[in-house]
Amino acid sequence: MAEGDPNCIFCKIIAGEIPARELFRDDDILAIEDVNPQAPSHVLVMPQAHVANMSTFSDTASAEKVARLLSKAAEIGRQRGAKGFRLVINEGSDGGQTVEHLHVHVLAGRHMRWPPG
Ligand code: 5GP
Ligand code: ZN
Repeated sequence: MAEGDPNCIFCKIIAGEIPARELFRDDDILAIEDVNPQAPSHVLVMPQAHVANMSTFSDTASAEKVARLLSKAAEIGRQRGAKGFRLVINEGSDGGQTVEHLHVHVLAGRHMRWPPG
């Protein structure tokens, strides 16, 4: 695993320096409960290696790693959302990204509206 970014809150969670409610961890991926849930179930699925966003991840990681991250997010969505779920990846300021460590939001447990805000 790459060294964590010392200024990154998710790297600190991955390193165990900041507590979080962990749902899943393997060699590459961590899934945690979002601290400020926007749905009855709101999970964040992230690579453990620090990478700022999906563009960088898809440019630098293997296709298998990109696929495994998305597959894990969908698996958690199926577990949490009997009637469906939503995966969201925010990128950049217009995308609404506030933490610059790639994470897939897995939202479930209520009906999602469209278009998003
Ligand atoms: P973004 O806005 O970057 O797409 O999403 C960042 C998400 O991280 C937000 O939903 C926010 O609630 C969550 N978050 C920020 N800080 C923490 C934290 O310290 N712990 C956890 N579990 N979630 C966090
Ligand atoms: Zn990080």
